[in-house]
Amino acid sequence: MDVLPDFTILRPTTIDEAVAARTQHPDARLLGGGTDLVVNIRRGIEAPPVLIEMMAIDSLRSISTADDELAVGASVRLSELADHEDVLSNYPVVAQAAHSIAGPTHREMGTVGGNICLDTRCIFYNQSEWWRTANRHCLKTTGDMCHVAPKSRGVCFATFSGDLAPAFLVLDAEVDLMGPEGMRTLPLKELYTGYAKQDGSTGDGRNYLSLRAGEIVTAVRAKRIPGHKSAYDKIRIRRSIEYPVAGVAVALRRDESILKDLRIAFTGTNPRPVPLDGTDALCGGALDETVLEALDDLVRDQVMAMKTTFTPGHYRRRVANVLARRLVTHLFDAA
Ligand SMILES: Cc1cc2nc3c(=O)[nH]c(=O)nc-3n(C[C@H](O)[C@H](O)[C@H](O)COP(=O)(O)OP(=O)(O)OC[C@H]3O[C@@H](n4cnc5c(N)ncnc54)[C@H](O)[C@@H]3O)c2cc1C
Ligand code: SF4
Repeated sequence: MDVLPDFTILRPTTIDEAVAARTQHPDARLLGGGTDLVVNIRRGIEAPPVLIEMMAIDSLRSISTADDELAVGASVRLSELADHEDVLSNYPVVAQAAHSIAGPTHREMGTVGGNICLDTRCIFYNQSEWWRTANRHCLKTTGDMCHVAPKSRGVCFATFSGDLAPAFLVLDAEVDLMGPEGMRTLPLKELYTGYAKQDGSTGDGRNYLSLRAGEIVTAVRAKRIPGHKSAYDKIRIRRSIEYPVAGVAVALRRDESILKDLRIAFTGTNPRPVPLDGTDALCGGALDETVLEALDDLVRDQVMAMKTTFTPGHYRRRVANVLARRLVTHLFDAA
């Protein structure tokens, strides 16, 4: 590990102060628990002169479950979310996803905002400065080529690997943002732009969030959907502390023997968390092998197979597929 460069830390105590600090220091980065950002700074991937630490803003540190809505402030620690009684009972997919992130010490430090805005990852990027220099920098930092796909025409396929996003996506979550122009709310799905289209019409692994200049995530909110069963599962290389090879969130509703509603979202596979399109067509009948094969087709079409991690891309897509089949079947049987 390299020595940390010098930087100044600002500690605003209100959201307005944080927005003002961001406007005053356009090169600053927001700091949640620092469990990802500080690693990147130490690796020389970035060197922000100013860090705006978000933990002293009390209004960002609450979890509310009133009126069948889960509202989680951006500076809530992952461990608080994972252990919250109402979240465990009524939003199990969120609690399970939070509990699966990294290891216990990271969850004590890491925050919801940091996880939702987590930088994308790639084996050619999450390396030390000397490693990246020796192997030639790629276009996510200062280089001009992609090692994963040399003919990518300027597109980066680095992978979004945060575990919370898919869990919130299957609950149709929204995200609250505050910036110099005031507050706005987006469907969480629209926060992520990493579709990686080669015509340049979308974001990619470098530009993966739709945050405007100076904007801050203040909260994520999801509605409780009566009758839904939900859960999260992931495969990782080291079970005790690891990013997902692939992660899947599922929420479904069963009425007698009929699958009435099905939502699935993935992480660890594309430069964005992927809410699976087309699951409505799988509903309306029993959950049989024909439905599961149709699910396989949707996964094959929408989950990328780029080799951005140590595991081969096609293996990772297969893992995503198996996880989804397994979790959908398990929840349907238990409903
Ligand atoms: C060994 C190891 C294993 C890990 N395993 C996992 C894993 O399994 N799953 C997983 O999801 N993550 C994993 N992580 C990454 C990290 O620990 C978590 O994602 C954590 O939730 C990040 O939160 P943080 O508060 O520490 O983020 P930080 O590192 O503080 O910030 C991350 C990013 O979010 C931005 N940010 C922070 N707060 C806000 C805000 N309010 N608004 C806008 N932007 C903001 C920061 O500027 C930065 O770009 C792992 C990390 C390590 C070191
Ligand atoms: S996908 Fe390509 S450009 Fe993006 S981080 Fe990996 S090697 Fe770099």
